[in-house]
Formats: sequence, C-alpha cells, structure tokens
Amino acid sequence: MIRRIKGTQDILPDETPKWVALENLIRKMMGRYNFHELRTPIFEQTQLFARGIGQLTDIVSKEMYTFLDRGKKQLTLKPEMTAPIMRAYIENKLYAKAPLNKLFYIAPLFRQENPQAGRLRQFHQFGAETLGTPDPNADAEMIDLAWSIFKEIGLTNLTLRLNSVGDPNCRADYKIKLKEYIRPNLDKYCPDCQRRYDENPLRILDCKNPTCVALNQNAPKLVDNLCDDCRAHYDAVKEQLHRLNIPFAEDPYLVRGLDYYTRTVFEITSSALGAQNAICGGGRYDLLAKELDGPDTPAVGFAAGIERLLMVMEQQGIVLAKKARLDVFLAPLGDKARAEGLAWLQKIRATGLSAEMDLLGRSIKAQMREANRQNTRFVLILGENELEKQEFAVKLMDKGEQINVPFETIIDFLEKESAK
Ligand SMILES: [Zn+2]
Ligand SMILES: [Zn+2]
Repeated sequence: MIRRIKGTQDILPDETPKWVALENLIRKMMGRYNFHELRTPIFEQTQLFARGIGQLTDIVSKEMYTFLDRGKKQLTLKPEMTAPIMRAYIENKLYAKAPLNKLFYIAPLFRQENPQAGRLRQFHQFGAETLGTPDPNADAEMIDLAWSIFKEIGLTNLTLRLNSVGDPNCRADYKIKLKEYIRPNLDKYCPDCQRRYDENPLRILDCKNPTCVALNQNAPKLVDNLCDDCRAHYDAVKEQLHRLNIPFAEDPYLVRGLDYYTRTVFEITSSALGAQNAICGGGRYDLLAKELDGPDTPAVGFAAGIERLLMVMEQQGIVLAKKARLDVFLAPLGDKARAEGLAWLQKIRATGLSAEMDLLGRSIKAQMREANRQNTRFVLILGENELEKQEFAVKLMDKGEQINVPFETIIDFLEKESAK
C-alpha cells in the first residue's frame, strides 16, 4: 500500500469544515482592514530563500525541500511566505501600481523538520504584509489586525510580547557589547550558541537551553541601546497600542529567527490548559526588499500557523463550523421511483437546497438511518403508492411529522418550509 509522506496529513471531509470556517473568518477580517490576497507559486528558485531568509538560519541550512528539476535548476518548495511575497512585489512592480500595498495570504508551506506533535512537513500559515511605509502606525495596525483576528475567533488569554531589534545602525554597536558579555563564558554555552556567536549573536538570546538562559540573565538589552530614530519608532508603536487598548509585555530578549527583521518584533500567545502557545509572530523587515534587489521598501508583517491555531481552538472548545445539514433526502422505493428521482433532485437543487437520494437500493429503514446520519431536514419518500397518486410522503425530521405533498406543489412546499 502506498502511504502518505511522513509529516504530511490528509484533511478528511469531517475536518475540512473547520478549516473553511477559519479561512472564511480570516478573509472577512482581512477585508475589514483592507488587505488584499496575493497567491504565489508553491516553488521558487532556491536563491530567493538563501538570500531572503539567510544562509545561516535553520530553515535554509537544514529544513528546505530543495531539488534539481529536469533542466538542472535548483528549486525549493516555499518554507515561508515573506520572501515570495517580496519577490512578487518586486517582480510585478506593485510599488508602481500603488504607493502602499497591504497584502495577505493563506498558503501551504514545506519544511523538513523532525516530526513531533504539531510539527508537520507540509503545514499552513496565514499572514499579512504592509509594504511601502516605515510609519509606526503600520506596525500598530498590523498587531491590531492579528489581535483582532484572534479575538474574533474567540481565543482567550491572549498575550502580546513586544520588542525592538533596532536597525543595522544601533545593532552593530549592540552586537559588540553582547559579544563582550558572552565571551568570558562562551565555552559554557550550548554548541548551537557557540556557533551563533560569530554568525548571529542576537539569536543566542533566543536559545531555550536552560544553561544558556541562565547565562543570559544579565546580558545587555538591545532596547537599552537603540539609536534615537529606533527609540522614537518603538515609543510611537507602544503609544498606539495603548490607544488601541491592546495590552502588551515588553520582552527585551524577543528576537526572531530570521535575519531581515528591523525594529518592531512581536509574538502573540494564547494560554490554554496551563500551556503557553505561540500562535503568531511578526515584525518589521525594512532590509528585505534591497536584499532581493528591489527598491528600498520598508515593510511590516506577521504570520500565524493554522494547524497550531486549530489545536489551540480545540483546547479552548471553540467551534466555528456549523454542523453540516442535508436539506432533502429522497428515498425511492423500486426501480421506477429510482428512475424518476434524479430529475427531482435537479429541480430541488435548482432552488438552492442541498439534495441527495439513495443510490445503493437500500430498504426504507436503511434509507431513514442514512438520512438521520446526514442530519437531514426533509425526507421525500417515493414508492409505488406515491407514484400512483403523483405525490411524495414527506417526513419533516425536526418536527417528527409526516404529510403528503402533490408533485406540482412540492418545490413550493420545500422552499417555504426550509425558509422557516
Ligand atoms: Zn544555547
Ligand atoms: Zn537604530
């Protein structure tokens, strides 16, 4: 038997309504904030991610699905969406069509991670990006958008963590200070951190290893070392969050795994059953457009994992999808009734109602069981008797009643009854 690839999942028909309901809510909220959907291909040139995310990140160095096509071109299944969005923005000259672009996506992504609970190799994210302004209002609007989506979903115990990672101007000085702090104890840090010391010392602050966390206790903070411009920007973002009534906690050690972030970084968590779940991360990335040979384009965005979100919703007992109902189940008895049934279904479906008939030649008892299983509203029984009298025996399942309705008025009847 051929099995699905490790780390992938089939989303079965009883699960898809949850996904669709969540996606609909996301689209509705994106519409309110006037963000527009951008869809990019599943694969890109590998170089886009090597340059756009950074060679030294875990994603690029360990996790990408990269392969040669038949033309010996190196391609990669997209592991994140920010670089593809920026590539599409530059390539399609969206900056020339509008001075500010507010974009969103809902997309499958691919990373070859070690399978563990909630870590899939094909997973899904939604997110938004505002391209074209350094205005701190854009950062605050982005946080408000993510926050409002989670509120609309009904998530409780939301926490926003906020930090500024400055820009190359202030970060260069800070990196020197940080390395001076770490150097005397470098051999006590974990091997990953020892590697990061030269490559990307900021990420040492992000290490979850308890030894590293303890060693970092008194590390200098980037927020205390921001240049005047970055300081003013950070203060303005916080000021707006106060006005928007979005509570936040400043976390001086919040850094993101990707190299192109500047100034604002944020993370939203939702706690359930005592566990803290990060459901969304984002920030400003003013350096990415130039890195990809585009025009200087300040930008801010966020991304959220859909599988993780569905998991947290389940923990909190949140159900967005309505239980599916079938409007009409037509139960034919005998060959003649079955021959006429399909044409009736066509007429009923044309009114907008959902309709189904038995295709397995089951007994009336088995057909009623099936109608119940499908949470049906009306069962139309069509047997020899009914054919002779030119009528249906109609079972109103919610009321537990049965009445006879002539062929010529059945459509009217169903339209009126179903509208009640
Ligand atoms: Zn470490
Ligand atoms: Zn700065």
